[in-house]
Amino acid sequence: MAALTELTVSEAVRVLSEGGTTSTSLLEALLQRIDQHDGAIHAYVSIDREDAMRQAEAADARRKRGESAPLLGVPIAVKDLFNVKGQPCTCGSRMLEGYIAPFDATVITRLREAGAVIVGRLNMDEFAMGSSTENSAWGPSRNPWNTDCVPGGSSGGNAAAVAADIAFASLGTDTGGSVRQPASFCGCVGLKPTYGRISRYGVVAYASSLDQVGPVTKDVRDTALLMNVMSGLDLRDSTSLNVPTPDFTTALGRDLRGLRLGLPSEYFGAGLDPEVERAVRAATDVCRSLGAEIVSVSLPQTKFAIPTYYVIATAEASANLARFDGIRYGARVKADSPLELYEQTRARGFGSEVKRRIILGTYVLSSGYYDAYYLRAQKVRRWIRAGFDDAFRSCDALLTPTAPTPAFRFGEKSADPLQMYLSDIFTATVNLAGGCALSVPCGFSATGMPIGMQVIGPALAEETLLRVGHAYEQATDWHLRRPQLKASV
Ligand code: GLN
Repeated sequence: MAALTELTVSEAVRVLSEGGTTSTSLLEALLQRIDQHDGAIHAYVSIDREDAMRQAEAADARRKRGESAPLLGVPIAVKDLFNVKGQPCTCGSRMLEGYIAPFDATVITRLREAGAVIVGRLNMDEFAMGSSTENSAWGPSRNPWNTDCVPGGSSGGNAAAVAADIAFASLGTDTGGSVRQPASFCGCVGLKPTYGRISRYGVVAYASSLDQVGPVTKDVRDTALLMNVMSGLDLRDSTSLNVPTPDFTTALGRDLRGLRLGLPSEYFGAGLDPEVERAVRAATDVCRSLGAEIVSVSLPQTKFAIPTYYVIATAEASANLARFDGIRYGARVKADSPLELYEQTRARGFGSEVKRRIILGTYVLSSGYYDAYYLRAQKVRRWIRAGFDDAFRSCDALLTPTAPTPAFRFGEKSADPLQMYLSDIFTATVNLAGGCALSVPCGFSATGMPIGMQVIGPALAEETLLRVGHAYEQATDWHLRRPQLKASV
């Protein structure tokens, strides 16, 4: 049998239910591997081992009593922006140093009810702003395939941990690509579900009209399993959708006959790394051989996505981050007056990218500029959405690269924010348009870095994405490859 830490979630569930291992053994194996490898990867920012062990013991006790639950006893790691009662939640920021979550986010409650063991908090770009984890106040995470490269971001710790087998699966968030892009950089599966599919109650907000919770996993089946547990209406989140949650696993194991998959020409143009293009085109051939009809489509609005995204996201971020005032949460600088306290805390608490975005967002919302920037961006957003609606009249889903390049090196883009923003070009469009999208591993560059294919669907088409992703995964073995890690201790 493979090492315990190599198991997928569905394999772990099976082994646990057959009595082949216990939750405490799984957790011990995981913690041991984290000790060996996380020094080099830095996927985790904090782990409460005693608390995790108590949860694992409780899961084993439940199983002993004859109980069963979909994830009973499986350790799951979470991005450091989910409130988990009694645990820190720093969002990769000094601003939240010392903050201890007083409650569980709804997704955490659902995972607990499903029997999961919540273990560890994963590194991220500060307040989820970034594409490389270089914006984390706690230092970057490293890509397990090459530690000189970024793992992507903002959920970089998520993907690095799953790729290195130091997490069985993880929970991230995706505002403009933060689940999919790191998944593609690290050779994992990442899903951005439809806006409203999963409750965001207790998830620290970045850009509220775009944010969505999504899993990073080792394979497509695990994504379906986690979606089953996490999805569904939550009255505590007014944007949560009142739609039934299907059994997402029923989408798996089918071929692609009868599906039309569109290739948007704008996603295969200038700026796309030739190795990425080759891998994604080869993957579309595999989908054709599985029975899909491949058609060409056009998304002429694509070039407006990045400016639109960075106006809307920063505007919303500037409003959301106003709550970090040195009084209500986390860090507080001592000062003589409330105003000074507020200014000093924000000046010292936020990193430079967060400040840049607060300033940008405040500017585009200010009177005199509101119409020219924010309102205009809202109109363009509607137009981008119309473009996707048009495309989905001639196909069921789109196949595109997830990111224009494989993982880049540290420092390569961090000096130039615009270069960094451009790496979101294929992912941010989906958040603006309101669809859902899955990234699956589809190859490697000549230097051995993973490449991801994105399957994009309209709102609530997760089952189509999982069907395509799973059929493709079954026909290939990219998702089975593992990076060679050198133990760091
Ligand atoms: N890289 C994008 C940004 O910096 C997306 C981040 C995200 O999805 N949270 O805004």
